[in-house]
Order: sequence, then structure tokens, then C-alpha cells
Amino acid sequence: MKKKIAIIGAGVSGAFFSYLLNQQEDLEVDLFDKSRGSGGRCAVKRYNEDDFINMGAQFLTNKRKDLSFYFKEIKDNSLLDFFPDSIAYFKKGVWMKANDTVRYVGRPHMNSFIKHWIKGINFNTRCKVVKIIQNEKKWSLYTESGEKYDNYDFCVFSLPLTQGKVIWFQNSKVQLPEVVMNPSWALLLKSEKVDLKWRAAFIHDNKLSWFHTRESKDSNMLWVIHTSPSWTKELIDLSKEDVDKLITNEVEKLLKIKIKKIFSETHLWRFASSGENMSRQKFALDENKNLAYIGDWFCGGRCEGAMESALECFQEVKKLF
Ligand SMILES: Cc1cc2nc3c(=O)[nH]c(=O)nc-3n(C[C@H](O)[C@H](O)[C@H](O)COP(=O)(O)OP(=O)(O)OC[C@H]3O[C@@H](n4cnc5c(N)ncnc54)[C@H](O)[C@@H]3O)c2cc1C
Repeated sequence: MKKKIAIIGAGVSGAFFSYLLNQQEDLEVDLFDKSRGSGGRCAVKRYNEDDFINMGAQFLTNKRKDLSFYFKEIKDNSLLDFFPDSIAYFKKGVWMKANDTVRYVGRPHMNSFIKHWIKGINFNTRCKVVKIIQNEKKWSLYTESGEKYDNYDFCVFSLPLTQGKVIWFQNSKVQLPEVVMNPSWALLLKSEKVDLKWRAAFIHDNKLSWFHTRESKDSNMLWVIHTSPSWTKELIDLSKEDVDKLITNEVEKLLKIKIKKIFSETHLWRFASSGENMSRQKFALDENKNLAYIGDWFCGGRCEGAMESALECFQEVKKLF
């Protein structure tokens, strides 16, 4: 009989893990996410057919050799491009070119390769898992809206630490690394065109941490601007309107421009980036309970870290089936 596996969270780590499992025979994978779709922190805001903004992750790197095979697979499917603009680095009032790391961006959107990974997988959206219970070696998942999903031989958490640790420790004694997760506001903005020397920049020691802008189909400009963890914490309880104004002011000051807005909106990422994992543990596995925990926060907090955690865990978990 096929083994049934539940994966909670359809971001990079959960989607990649489900893709890896799906290559195996005799496994049935069910993926759950509380959102309307997949992607997690690689979310995309679409305004119409042509205009969209990548709200969270802006690019991926591929530094680990054993992930290159999987990068090639998504490149071969035309789901990755090189990041389109050269990126600046701003520190102490000085603009310089950022290092030449190869950076990829999802094509056409940042979550397109994630959708590719979960093709053919049974994906349950709007399912916020609030409880799991094991009975006679089989896991049941319970959602916020009162549904129950049964009969899983194995259950994988692929959520930020803060979102999953309570349920984990209700069911497992296996330790998780202590990793701090930091928030970030994102301002998504359409403006009239302005001339800029740099279209993308990492911003150091500032209230802002990143911006990227590109031309919209109707020759205006689409922007995404992220705030630094420390400033985000100061702004966390303000209204979205106030945050919008404050971020816009900072961008105008930084770039010495006047922004003529067409529309804008803000989004708060509560668990945007993670601090260092001092334990070097790349995933958690409870072989007695048939439970595993993966996620970017185990491996440095980037998309590549999410893939690394999923791959390392998969290599252990597949030995159990
Ligand atoms: C503003 C911002 C900028 C970033 N920039 C970059 C960048 O340029 N490059 C880079 O490599 N990385 C970047 N990152 C980090 C990158 O987005 C993450 O490392 C990666 O997306 C994490 O994937 P994940 O699957 O581990 O977690 P997530 O993407 O957080 O996925 C977890 C999923 O679990 C779901 N979930 C949570 N709780 C439940 C529940 N109880 N039940 C069901 N589902 C649940 C969530 O909806 C989510 O879809 C950025 C992140 C942010 C927020």
C-alpha cells in the first residue's frame, strides 16, 4: 500500500520537498497551506495581465553544488531568468555596485517554479493546520475551520519556526534550533516615471533595506521597497496608511526624488528573515514519531536555504520508506 505523507506549508521548502517525494514510487503526498495558493514568502501581487510585483523574495542564488541539478531543471523549463538589473549597494552615503553573485528571478513570477514543483500534488489551500494527533502510528491533521485529514504515515512541517513550534512540541521531544525571526514591511507602489541611476539596491544601516523598480506595461514604474528589521519593529503597530507615508518619505530622501504615486499598498512580513542558526542543524527528524521539520531558518534564511533544508531532510526521510 502507498505510504501517505502530509506536508504543512507550501513555500519553497514544502513545495521542493513535495517535488522530491513525488519522484519516488509508492508515496502519496498531500500538501496543505493556510493561504489561497503556494509560494509563502515568494508571494507575488498581480494587478493585471502584465503588471505584478514580487512582494517577498526578490531573487535566488545557487551556491550549493548539489542543488544545481534542481536549478537546471527549473531553468530548462524556462522558469528562471537572471535578475534583470545591476544592483547597487548603499552604505554610509556611498553608492557602489553590489558584488557579482549570480542572482536568478522566477519567471514570469517569483512563485512560478514553486507552482511547477507542486504540479500533480494534492494541494489543499486555505487549510490552516492547528493540531495534529497520532493514533496507532497514523497522523490526523485538524484545520482551523474544523476539517480533519486522516491516515498519514509521516508528517512534515515546513513553516517558519514561530508558526510551527507549538504544534511540534505538543508532539515531539526532538529539539529545534533557537532562531530569531525578523519582520519587514513591504511597500508596493506604482508611480509616474522618474530617472534613477540604480533600479535595485541593498541598503545598509538605514531604515530601508532594499528597493527594486521596473517599468510597467503603460510606461510608469512599479516598485517594491523593504524596511530593515529594526525600523519595522518601530513601525509594527502603526496603520498601513502611516507606514506607507513614512516609507515613501524615506525613499524620496534616499533617492533625492519626488514620487508621484498612482497607487500603493503595504504588507507586513512578520517572519521575513531569520538570524543565524548556531546549532548548524539543517532539519529536525523524529524517527519514532515519523515527524520532520524543514525551512529556510535552519539554513540561513534564504530561498536556497529552504531548498537545502528540504534536500538534506529528504535524503534521510527516504531511507525510512
Ligand atoms: C521581504 C522579504 C524579502 C526576501 N528576499 C529574499 C531574497 O531576495 N532572496 C532569497 O533567497 N530569500 C529572500 N527572502 C527569504 C525567502 O522568501 C525565504 O527564505 C523562503 O521563501 C522561505 O521558504 P519556506 O518554505 O522555508 O517558508 P515560507 O515561504 O514562509 O512558507 C511557509 C508556508 O507555510 C504556510 N503556513 C504557515 N502556517 C501554517 C499552518 N498552520 N497551516 C498551513 N500552512 C501554514 C504559510 O502560508 C507559507 O506558505 C525574503 C523574504 C521576505 C519576506
